[in-house]
Amino acid sequence: MYQCQLCGKNSQPRTPAHRVTLAIRSVVYPHRSKVNGCWKWTGERSKFVRTDDPGGFGLEAEREAIVCPECAKQWQARE
Ligand SMILES: [Zn+2]
Repeated sequence: MYQCQLCGKNSQPRTPAHRVTLAIRSVVYPHRSKVNGCWKWTGERSKFVRTDDPGGFGLEAEREAIVCPECAKQWQARE
């Protein structure tokens, strides 16, 4: 049992909970040089090298809510 974080109702027992994303934000990851260590084969021998992390950008969840199935259906229809 849980309380829906959108409508505030208590769920019936054994009702599945849904997690919806309310807000997202864009993030930028900076370039980092020589941070990933790995063994690479160079001909006959393996050699330990450190490679760069190229960085980049993407989206991450800013706010999430645990909601009942009806609210999850409404939220998905709105998006
Ligand atoms: Zn609800």
